[in-house]
Amino acid sequence: MRPRIDYVYILGASHSGSTLLAMLLNAHPDITTIGETAPGRMGDVNTYRCSCGRLIQECAFWTKVAARMRDRHPEFRLDDFGTKFEFPAGRVINRLLQFEHRGRMLELLRDTVLRLSPGWQAARREIATRCYDLTAAVLAESGGRILVDSSKLAHRLKFLLQIPEFNLKVIHLVRDGRAVALTYMKQDEFADSREPALRRGGRGMTADATAASLPMRRAAQEWRRCLQAAEHVLVGLDRSQWIQVRYEEFLVGLDRSQWIQVRYEELCRDTDGVLCRIHDFLGTDYARTAGRFRDAEHHVIGNGMRLDGTSSISLDERWKSVLTELELATFDCAAGDMNRRYGCT
Ligand SMILES: [Zn+2]
Repeated sequence: MRPRIDYVYILGASHSGSTLLAMLLNAHPDITTIGETAPGRMGDVNTYRCSCGRLIQECAFWTKVAARMRDRHPEFRLDDFGTKFEFPAGRVINRLLQFEHRGRMLELLRDTVLRLSPGWQAARREIATRCYDLTAAVLAESGGRILVDSSKLAHRLKFLLQIPEFNLKVIHLVRDGRAVALTYMKQDEFADSREPALRRGGRGMTADATAASLPMRRAAQEWRRCLQAAEHVLVGLDRSQWIQVRYEEFLVGLDRSQWIQVRYEELCRDTDGVLCRIHDFLGTDYARTAGRFRDAEHHVIGNGMRLDGTSSISLDERWKSVLTELELATFDCAAGDMNRRYGCT
C-alpha cells in the first residue's frame, strides 16, 4: 500500500474565498496548496501565470512537479492534469458524472449505473492514481506533509473519499450567497485579480472571459445548488446516519472530527481566530505560520486573486452597494431561505 497522506478539501461554492483560505494555510511550513487539483480550462498554457508571477511553463516548482508526474504518467500536461473524474469515451457515463450530488437516493441510482460500466471503473481507478501521484509529487517538491485542495465541488470530494491512502478532512467554506451570486454575474469585476491587466488567467482584459456571465436568478440557483450538494456529502460523512435529516439538526449530533465549517466573512473579520480554529482541527501549530501570508512561497493556480500582491485581508461586501432592489428580491426568491439558514440576513 502507498504511504498515507493528510488531505484537506475545501468544499463549497466557487468564489467563496477558497483561494484566499488555501493561501493563508499555505503559509504554514507543513501545509501546501496548488489551489484546485483538477483546474478548469486554463486557455493557452503558454501564457498562463502561476501565483509566483512566472509563466507556469517557466515556474521551477511546476517544472519539477511535471517531471515527477511524467515519470509515472508520460501523458501529464500542465494544462490538463488528467485528475478530473470524467469519462469522455462514454457519452452517457460522462453526462452522469457532470451532475452534482443531489441526495442519497439519486446517488445510489447513479452509483449503480456507474458500477455497470467496466470502462468507467478502470478509468476511475486510473484517475484516482493520478490524483494520488500528483499529491505526492507536490508534497515532495514543497516539503509539506498536508495538501490543501480548493476544488470545492461536492461530487469530486465523493471520489476522493474513495482513495484509501488519503486521510481526508473537509473545510466547508460558506459565503453570503448574495456576494457569491454577484461574482457569477460579473466575474471580471468581482471574482478576479484587483488589477485588470492580471485578470483572465493573468493575460488581461483582451483575453477571452474565463466564465459566462449569469443573470441573477441563475446565479442564485447555482449558489444554492452548490450548497445543497455540499450538504448531501457532509451528511454522508457520518456513516452512522444514513437517513437524510434537516441539515441544522444533523449538525448537532455529527462527529466533527472529519469536517469543520468556516464562514468567509468571519475569516476576513477575525483571520487569526478562524485560522487558530482550523489549525486546531488539522493538528498543526498556527504559531509556525509566516507573519504575512504573501511572504511564503506560493505556486497556486485558479482564482485571479492568487496574482494580487497584498497580504492585507479586507472583507468584500460590494454586493451591498452594487446589487439593485430587484436583483436582491430575485435572489431572495431563489435562495433567500438557504442564505438565512446559514445566518446571512
Ligand atoms: Zn510558481
